[in-house]
Amino acid sequence: MKILTCKGCQIYTLKQNCPKCGKKTQTIKPAKFSPEDRFGKYRRKAKNELQHKTD
Ligand SMILES: [Zn+2]
Repeated sequence: MKILTCKGCQIYTLKQNCPKCGKKTQTIKPAKFSPEDRFGKYRRKAKNELQHKTD
């Protein structure tokens, strides 16, 4: 069972179309790609740069 989301309404549904606005819903992407984790990319980048300096 996939949980789908409407980006416009920011609601979660199991339906292929948003029950609120009728637009096609989208599969929730893995957490590592979520906007909430966008700082994780910079953390990893910083970590890599630190590792380069130590090497
Ligand atoms: Zn919607």
